[in-house]
Amino acid sequence: MTATADVVVIGGGAMGTSIAYHLARAGAGRIVLLERETALGLGSTGRCAGGFRHQFSSEINVRLSLESVRMIREFSAAHGLPLDVHAEGYLFLVRDEAAWAGHRAAAAMQRRLGARVEELDTAAVAALVPGLATHGLVGATFGPDDGIADPSGLTNGYATLARRAGATIRLGEAASAVHTTADGSAVTGVQTPGGASIDAPVVVNAAGVWAPALAASCGVDIPIEPHPRHVVVTSGFAGRPERRTLVIDTATMFYFHREGAGVLMGMPRRKDAVATFETAVDDDWIADELLPTAISVLPALESAGLARSWVGLYEMTPDRHAILGPVEGLGGLFLANGFSGHGFQHAPIVGKVIAELITGQPPTVDVSALRLERFARGELIGESHVV
Ligand SMILES: Cc1cc2nc3c(=O)[nH]c(=O)nc-3n(C[C@H](O)[C@H](O)[C@H](O)COP(=O)(O)OP(=O)(O)OC[C@H]3O[C@@H](n4cnc5c(N)ncnc54)[C@H](O)[C@@H]3O)c2cc1C
Repeated sequence: MTATADVVVIGGGAMGTSIAYHLARAGAGRIVLLERETALGLGSTGRCAGGFRHQFSSEINVRLSLESVRMIREFSAAHGLPLDVHAEGYLFLVRDEAAWAGHRAAAAMQRRLGARVEELDTAAVAALVPGLATHGLVGATFGPDDGIADPSGLTNGYATLARRAGATIRLGEAASAVHTTADGSAVTGVQTPGGASIDAPVVVNAAGVWAPALAASCGVDIPIEPHPRHVVVTSGFAGRPERRTLVIDTATMFYFHREGAGVLMGMPRRKDAVATFETAVDDDWIADELLPTAISVLPALESAGLARSWVGLYEMTPDRHAILGPVEGLGGLFLANGFSGHGFQHAPIVGKVIAELITGQPPTVDVSALRLERFARGELIGESHVV
């Protein structure tokens, strides 16, 4: 059985649903989104910490954030749909002089591009988030317009808007391959495992950390590796922070924010530097390394009970930047992959920009520096603020 569409979007996370909505709203024709799970947002999106921020070290990431954070904060007002958003800031704690110079330079760049970012001393940090251990603190940067939001709410919100705008979302339906013309110069549609196919001149790969397998089916190599990250949520405890500010200890990359009556926290393990799809929770590491670090940053956590924990996958590229846009030599294929741990917050603007590129509109943010071909050309971009 063969169906037809104008655009097939593969993947129903924050990215795929935002792309489907922005395409449908732009009048890009019949849009079909395929999600292999029976619900949306069960990939990295559903395991994410929900943070959004302007504080990146590369200009392109700050430019994407300036648009995307505004879209997250205005989502409910713009679309009349509920979205849990707390813009109570991101606080980067820096305990090393050399690192502090780098953070100050990044903050100056962020301000030059239009973001609000403040530099705080120890007293200001203690006043902002009482209870934080400030020993050895050299300085901190604070983005008052940064914050946390609900990843599942954003994903399902964009799915609702996409459906209302006429897009079709097919759950429990995987794409097993991307078809191309015989000479391999253009895509012609996608194959599903049941044998059915969908003919389409445009295919968007928004399959998260699983994107490389799909890309390989049409001869495209995308350098994305899965790297596990733990998240632990505590129950309520005395001395828990009242603010929902996302605090990051840059020496250890331990982070936390208020979540319900307790906090949500995470930190990379040393072994997370090795790529793997393994997502088993490492209870020994939580006890031996995460909790002591957590208590050294927020001593009140000593009395907190653990409520739940999980492991999700970061979709890492060699330069920690997304891979966005068309692919040279393969007409009709668009990539929205490799967000390297910050794809939830960039989903609104990336959905809009991908729709603009497909429909031939000038993109709201110039993402040409993020095309796949940068790896072959050796034009990598650095990003040091990967949490
Ligand atoms: C622990 C953790 C914390 C994070 N914290 C943050 C944060 O604070 N802020 C932030 O911005 N980002 C954060 N991230 C990163 C963020 O979660 C991801 O960058 C983002 O969710 C990527 O969205 P996506 O839609 O591209 O991918 P996904 O959410 O993974 O969606 C891809 C979808 O594609 C589907 N799929 C795959 N292959 C196929 C196929 N062949 N056919 C059909 N469907 C397919 C999958 O089932 C999945 O639903 C975090 C990630 C983790 C793991």
